[in-house]
Order: sequence, then structure tokens, then C-alpha cells
Amino acid sequence: MKHAEAATRFTQDYDRTTWHDKSLWFIREKRDRAVNQIPEWEALRSMASQIKDNVLSNLDTYLTQLEENARQNGVTLHWAADAAEHNRIVLGILRENGIQQMVKSKSMLTEECHLNDFLGENGIDVVDTDLGERVVQLAGEPPSHIVMPCIHKKKEEIGALFHEHLGTEKGAFDPQYLTEAARQHLREKFLTRRAALTGVNFAIAETGGFVVCTNEGNADMGAHLADVHIACMGIEKVIPKAEHLGFFLRLLARSATGQPITTYSSHFHRPRPGQTMHLVIVDNGRTQQLGRADFRNSLKCIRCGACMNTCPVYRRSGGHSYHNAVAGPIGAILAPNLDMRKNADLPFASTLCGSCSNVCPVKIDIHDQLYKWRQVLAAEGHVEASKKQGMKLMASVLSSPKLFRLAGKTGRGVMRLAPFAVSNPLNPWYREREMPAPPKESFREWYVRQEAGAPVKAEEEVREGVKD
Ligand code: SF4
Repeated sequence: MKHAEAATRFTQDYDRTTWHDKSLWFIREKRDRAVNQIPEWEALRSMASQIKDNVLSNLDTYLTQLEENARQNGVTLHWAADAAEHNRIVLGILRENGIQQMVKSKSMLTEECHLNDFLGENGIDVVDTDLGERVVQLAGEPPSHIVMPCIHKKKEEIGALFHEHLGTEKGAFDPQYLTEAARQHLREKFLTRRAALTGVNFAIAETGGFVVCTNEGNADMGAHLADVHIACMGIEKVIPKAEHLGFFLRLLARSATGQPITTYSSHFHRPRPGQTMHLVIVDNGRTQQLGRADFRNSLKCIRCGACMNTCPVYRRSGGHSYHNAVAGPIGAILAPNLDMRKNADLPFASTLCGSCSNVCPVKIDIHDQLYKWRQVLAAEGHVEASKKQGMKLMASVLSSPKLFRLAGKTGRGVMRLAPFAVSNPLNPWYREREMPAPPKESFREWYVRQEAGAPVKAEEEVREGVKD
């Protein structure tokens, strides 16, 4: 299903749409308050963006350094060219250790690779331990947001889900009660699973260590109790030095949830005695994106989710409408790189208002890239013929003053004499909108009249004229 159709389905539930919109805007406002307390915020953003520029230009050097140092620390390194290889590597590690059950903390990379499905098909039971992720896992859904995976669900729905799967009281939806139930449920999994998989927020080339940020401590609990710790990262997660971490940690938490710091920023360097630690470094289209001059900056993303929280389209259409592991504006830039045909609709799911670029902590020019993707997709033949023809027609009208005047006059006449020709169920634009009253004259006509010394019209009429 394309974004527009999925969004139409989402917006059928008016209350959910409004509440979803408000919840995300609440986070956006919280982010603004946190950011405004840091006078050096813009300097932090510039510094982080420049560090990432350096990383993207020297990726091979930093990855090799990371590999060398991690190996010296006793970590086993794996390289995966794509999602399939990543999944095979994880399965291989589990089989080698005779493990059939695993706990997993939040990792958007494993969502991107559809790891859970793959492991499930191969007889491995995976339990997601991030609370939001566990909720969507029990619901049989993918996450709808990279930081708040079940932001689309109401507490009543979570209560019903927990009643069905965890045996909580019927009709109970008190968040404290549900969280406690999830805690008890997950504790048993932590204590009995021999393998834990975590994501990686930042990997440090200089030390060979990596940092995992969570608010629930679930990554730590899983990794510390398991005999086998598998950490999976995209190649872009490497940073040169430990001293660079401070910039990213300060930016990440404030941008994501408005917190000054993520509750747990855990540093992993080497396996504890008796444990094995694996680091799986994955490309899966990232080097291809690196080679696209207009889009390489998208690899700077630290997955804070701020661009989603602020995006008027994301807030009102929900994350699942993007049919991609990473939703929202950044997802709409990353997805066409992997499959242009399947994801050609996503760069069009934007107003190009630029709010995403304004909040991005690493200064990715998100809305410019969305606009550029539209051009690439049109040139590659992935845009519907009707849209292409419509744009061509529009371009010829807008580039000819004569045609523009004629179209304006005709449009105003039709809107006045036969409004149903424009505002009817066949015109999707007016399905959700009220047609405005047509202006009496165009701005140009009004201007010419003023120049000719005609009496100045009443303010109301002037405004109507300006609308044109
Ligand atoms: S693109 Fe920027 S704002 Fe969006 S998730 Fe990535 S880092 Fe955050």
C-alpha cells in the first residue's frame, strides 16, 4: 500500500490522528525547551555535523581501526554486505552456541534486515525487551517510530494486549500497573536467555568499544546476563575518538525526548570472562548511498527521531504509512536508496516545509534531499504518468504569462459558475477541504487598476484579489 492510501486509512480514526499528532508535538516542544537551555546548541550541531563529514570521507580508515582495536579487545568481528548476510551471521552465531532463545534490545538495523522474521523461520525465539518494542511485537506489528515504537497505540489497547498475552487484569490500563507486569514478564526472559542482541549507537574507532543508549536499561540487563552478546551496527555508526562522544550524547537525548541525557549510555569494550562478544558491521546499501553525492549526508543520521516528531505529515499519517523500517522524513530519504520502485512514493510524503532540517542535530539537509529524490525518481521513471503529465502541464502554464492569465480567469469562472466541477468526490484535494470563494479579480488585474488610478477597493476585496 502506498503512503497516501495508508495515511487515508490512518486518518479515518479522527481521534487517534489528533491524539497522535498532539503526543508527538508534545515531544517536539519538550525538545525545544531542552535545546533552549543550551546556549552552545548550534555550535554542538555544527561540530557533530563536521565530525560526521570527516567520518563519511574516511569511513574505510575508521572502520579498519575499529576492527583492529575491537579484535584486540577480544571481540569477534563480522562484516555483512547486506541484510541477508547479516541475518545469516546472527543465526550462525546462535547455532554455533546451540542457542534457540534470545533477548534483543532496540535495534533499527535488525528491523531493517527483518531479523526477527528470519530467526523465527529458523526456529529461534526472539523476545524484544524494549517496552515499546515488546508491545508491537505482541501486537504482530513493526515499530511505527524509531524512538517510541508504539506511539500509535493507546494505553487501553496495550492493556488489552497485555491481558491477552501476559495475563494482566481485564480492562486494566494503568501505565504503572502495565509497566510492572512487563517488568516481571521480561525479567524471566533476561534470566533464562543465553544470548542477547543489542544495537549500537556509536562505535569508537580509537578504542574498539561501542555505546548503547537506552532509557530502560534493557540492553545492559540482556548483555550482562547472557553468555553471548551480539551487537549489530551499520557502517555509519563509527566515530573517530572517545572525546567525540560528548557531542553526540548531548545532542541525541535532547533531540529525541527532550532529556538532558539518556538514562543509560552503556560502554562495551570486551566480553567479561566466560562470555563471547560479537560485533556485526553491516553495509546493506550504505556505501551505495555514500556514492550518491546529493544523499550521502543522510548517513550522518543518529536516529533521534526529531524529524519525525516535527513533521506535519508524519504526525498526521502515522509511522506505518511509510511501509519502511525507518519512517518519517529520514526514512523517506533512506528507503529509495534500497528500492526506488517500491519506495518512490515516500519522498512525496512531505510538505517540504523544512522543519525536519531545522531540528536535525547533525544538520542533514533533509527537505532538500526529499526534493532531490523527487527529481531522481521522475527521471528514473518511478513517478506515475498522471503526475508527470500534470507537472508538465503546470510547468507550461507557469512559464507563459498569457496562459497563466487565461488559466486564472477560467479557473475563477468555473469556481463561480460550476463549483461542482472542481469540488466533487472525484477530486481528492477537496475530499477533506472546503472550497474557498473564488476571488473577484486576480492580483494582476487589481494592480493594473491601482496603477491606472482606479478607486482603492475595500480591504476585504483587496484581500480576495491577493488570494489569486
Ligand atoms: S535525520 Fe536528523 S532529526 Fe531525523 S532521526 Fe536522523 S538525526 Fe534525528
